[in-house]
Amino acid sequence: MAEEYSCPYCESIFESKDDLSKHIDRIHGDSGVLEGSKSS
Ligand SMILES: [Zn+2]
Repeated sequence: MAEEYSCPYCESIFESKDDLSKHIDRIHGDSGVLEGSKSS
């Protein structure tokens, strides 16, 4: 059974944490921004 890692921001699915991490970093910019809306 292969583990799947789903992106919390969109519906993308990845086969490894690393891929998911890279995805979040480059696509979503990271920063732990899920709800926190800082206006700067
Ligand atoms: Zn995503």
